[in-house]
Amino acid sequence: MDEPNIRGTTRRELLGGAAVVLGSPVLGFREDREDIPDPSQEQPEEPGGSCAGDMDEEFEELLAAAEDVEVDDSDRALAPAKWTRPVKKRARVTMRYRVRGNWLVGYHTGVDLAVPKGTPVYAVGTGTVVLASWSGSYGKAVTLKMSDGRYVVYGHLNRISVARGAKVKAGTRIGSSGATGRATGPHLHFEVRARRPYGSDIDPVKYLARHGLTL
Ligand SMILES: [Zn+2]
Repeated sequence: MDEPNIRGTTRRELLGGAAVVLGSPVLGFREDREDIPDPSQEQPEEPGGSCAGDMDEEFEELLAAAEDVEVDDSDRALAPAKWTRPVKKRARVTMRYRVRGNWLVGYHTGVDLAVPKGTPVYAVGTGTVVLASWSGSYGKAVTLKMSDGRYVVYGHLNRISVARGAKVKAGTRIGSSGATGRATGPHLHFEVRARRPYGSDIDPVKYLARHGLTL
């Protein structure tokens, strides 16, 4: 009957003793540990994050208020035949389009690509920059109006390298990926809308596929 108590005491004493030994600076554990990168601190730099939220009033207000832009694809220099992927290399999809969740429309409105912070991000085709600014939970975001009238949104960027009103074509660098705004880690949120308002999204994978591209 008394045995469990005795065992418990013994185990506690053993664990206490081990903790003292492991934590002892005399044995050099603490110094050694400082050289080992802490995985929990490294994580934000590693790709693999996804959106923690997508409907954002600040972004929607900015987009709704943005002046209409002219998209002229008659200019041959701005209209290469081939579209390009938003990132050069194939990237793992960390959250697919229309995954159900606690969002206003009830699903994820874009596709999340696992790319490390600082990865160059490109315009997929001919268009004009509608918005290029901090956009609430989208973080630093760029919105393009494409020559077909669709809107393409790039969210959670680390750096924006285009200004509002700039004309872009497939392959024009619009910035670098990151984890700004509401993101669980570095990734690119790529969204396509038929019109400006939230909820007018279309399948971004199919959109690119129509231009011969696979993510
Ligand atoms: Zn997303």
